[in-house]
Amino acid sequence: MTRPLVIAHRGASGYLPEHTLAAKTLAFEMGADFLEQDIVASRDDELIVVHDVLLDRVSDVALKFPGRHRDDGRYYVRDFDLSEIRSLRAWERMHADGTAVYPGRYPAQSGDFGINTLAEELALVQQLNADHDRSVGVYPEIKRPAWHKEEGVDIAPRLLDTLAEFGYVDDLDSVYVQCFDDAEIRRLRNELNCPYKLVQLIGENAWLEAETDYDALRTEAGLREIAASADAIGPRIEHLIEPGADSVPVSTGLVEMAHEAGLAAHPYTFRVDELPDGFASFDDLVSFCVSELGVDGLFTDFPDRVIRLESL
Ligand code: CA
Repeated sequence: MTRPLVIAHRGASGYLPEHTLAAKTLAFEMGADFLEQDIVASRDDELIVVHDVLLDRVSDVALKFPGRHRDDGRYYVRDFDLSEIRSLRAWERMHADGTAVYPGRYPAQSGDFGINTLAEELALVQQLNADHDRSVGVYPEIKRPAWHKEEGVDIAPRLLDTLAEFGYVDDLDSVYVQCFDDAEIRRLRNELNCPYKLVQLIGENAWLEAETDYDALRTEAGLREIAASADAIGPRIEHLIEPGADSVPVSTGLVEMAHEAGLAAHPYTFRVDELPDGFASFDDLVSFCVSELGVDGLFTDFPDRVIRLESL
């Protein structure tokens, strides 16, 4: 069995607050193949590594800048300059009431971690690679491109420029660019001449993440259309498996269909503390997805747990 690519989802986020440089360093040391960056834009058009366009569930922004929220009560990265974002502390992800989303992880509202730019993270990855003679890759996601354009900033060309500035020119295998918006994936390939592998993320229409019809993408015709621009799909684990006889999980056929269309499959998100129905353990889940489904890569908050699985 070939071990799948291990993509550290927001870093080793099962152990340290997501997207902090500490979480990325830990994931690197654990042996991850790729480190993921979610990319959003600040008020002064800097590319910032944060999971959402929002700051309030992952930082102390509401304490440091009370009143700087929008009418919906939320604090947007886009409303803060980089210098202000630098003054924030990154916290373990929390609910609106301040309690932890994953109670067994890093303690809520504590720690001395900052929020970083894409450039700072790329510099870290390159330094770690040089120090350890490794070639760990980067896996940036363009967050909500249509929304960002309405806000007056176009992330995709800035991302490509930044990657080129950091020398990602010849080693094209070290970069995957991902997005939930299928129009942006097509634009990256056809208009912006993105030289990197592209990953069409597949979510749920109810999330309102983009105009994309994810139900249509998960059909043979949809996958063929994706394959015209992208190299892989990033579906939810729940898209890959369904309950069979006696509730034993079986394949939905999506990975097989993707492979037939020429696409790799990199599902998300493999979490020790959030298992899908039908699996007794994290190891069982990973083993099933690798050996039964043949996934080519996987996003995980716990890269060490995948890497040390002896059955892979
Ligand atoms: Ca992401």
